[in-house]
Amino acid sequence: MTVTVGGLVPQAAYDVAVIGAGVVGCAIARALARHPSLRVAVVEAQDDVGQGTSKANTAILHTGFDAVPGSLEARLVREGARQLAAYADESGIPVEPVGALLVAWDEEQLAALPRLAEKAGHNGYRDARLWGHAELRDAEPHLGPGALGALHVPGESIICPWTTTLAYATQAVRHGVDLHLNSPVEQLSRGPRLHHLRTARGTLHARHLVNAAGLHADILDRQLGHDDFTVTPRRGQLIVFDTFARALVRHILLPVPTALGKGVLVAPTVYGNVLLGPTAEDLDDKRATGSTADALALLREKGRRILPGLLDEEVTAVYAGLRAATEHDDYRITAHPDQSYITVGGIRSTGLTASLAIADHITGLLAGNGLELGPTRDLEPVRMPNLGEAFPRPHQQPRLIAADPEYGTLVCHCERVSRGEIRDALASTIPPRTVDGLRRRTRARAGRCQGFYCGATVRALFEGAQA
Ligand SMILES: Cc1cc2nc3c(=O)[nH]c(=O)nc-3n(C[C@H](O)[C@H](O)[C@H](O)COP(=O)(O)OP(=O)(O)OC[C@H]3O[C@@H](n4cnc5c(N)ncnc54)[C@H](O)[C@@H]3O)c2cc1C
Repeated sequence: MTVTVGGLVPQAAYDVAVIGAGVVGCAIARALARHPSLRVAVVEAQDDVGQGTSKANTAILHTGFDAVPGSLEARLVREGARQLAAYADESGIPVEPVGALLVAWDEEQLAALPRLAEKAGHNGYRDARLWGHAELRDAEPHLGPGALGALHVPGESIICPWTTTLAYATQAVRHGVDLHLNSPVEQLSRGPRLHHLRTARGTLHARHLVNAAGLHADILDRQLGHDDFTVTPRRGQLIVFDTFARALVRHILLPVPTALGKGVLVAPTVYGNVLLGPTAEDLDDKRATGSTADALALLREKGRRILPGLLDEEVTAVYAGLRAATEHDDYRITAHPDQSYITVGGIRSTGLTASLAIADHITGLLAGNGLELGPTRDLEPVRMPNLGEAFPRPHQQPRLIAADPEYGTLVCHCERVSRGEIRDALASTIPPRTVDGLRRRTRARAGRCQGFYCGATVRALFEGAQA
């Protein structure tokens, strides 16, 4: 098992290097780990997996009911959703099949719902049903006045995005993939047989290259001579409401979509909170993950119409993620066989859902580019710590606590995170490098006090493990 965070990167050439340890890059690495004869590296700029767009989204496992029929995205979302639901079950990634309601607030939107049901059918999703006003009110009694009807999409689920990326990466590393963190690729070049990836930690060499660099995929693509797309970061700001708000909403409440995207939604999270967002703002800056007063005010205004009671609830946090939007409507996945190179660009709003199907697709393209995959093996399953409210947490399990009292000693009281869970995360295959990384593995400091009560203890435990 190799995870490196410092020192020089290895000199011996890899069969495949994957740039980017987001949910997509980690899924690709995991798929390649099925082939034991391959030497695979993941090269990541930051100090943890899933630190880019993959950590800041709306965490919905989509059915793909509203994708553009016939597009690559539609196929990979449809297949990926099924694959990820099964994988989550096997790996302990929390998923709740709460279903979605596309709510119509005026006659025009109401008239659009049958077309959306038809589109769902074209995407192979046949369970969507039109609901009248009364049915909608019964299902969501706290909706604001003026909701006329809805399209019910029972297959939409909520999922933990942090555990998903970590599960893929953990499984990949346990099966021999090298994960090089803190290794921003500054320059790419191709010799007669090898790619050369110049990083801050030396130059890494690989026969085949996969560019899964998310927001930066276009920059790396240009270094290899391609000019197929430009990433325009599309910021999505969100507000997280405290767990007391959870009783107000049972489904994912979606608006009728517009050309700019899926619009502002209200959705429960697997951690027991409620999300309001995201915005859709096209920006120039690929680091602009801040929140703005104007956008938060806009979200509150939209939220007031959807679920008026939500605005009386406490806000736990705000955050923003950047979608890797491009000038094209579909993913920009391109194989360049003459360069033994694959671009995985433009994975905008659905990459979490589609990740496992994207990984299978890329494996096929690598083989098409001439990579000898060699024999295939089944991967040893991983079992991830449960971060979901709908499943038993360690502090709720008397037998577990009797066997190991650390699971009964709460450190973060808001999120009910025990010392045992923090200890396990710090000793895991890919341990966190910051207290924020620890939060994404345990929920410690993610609750209503945002670490005011437990922050010092969490930091002491974290620093103790680094010593
Ligand atoms: C607001 C919002 C809501 C969303 N909601 C959903 C949803 O509900 N469901 C869903 O399925 N999807 C959703 N998405 C989309 C989903 O989050 C993305 O499609 C997915 O996270 C993309 O993953 P990625 O691995 O391609 O990119 P990233 O997670 O950004 O990973 C790319 C990685 O590459 C690294 N990198 C970049 N340049 C270099 C370099 N030069 N050298 C080394 N490393 C580099 C970065 O550090 C980063 O870690 C949403 C996105 C946003 C922003």
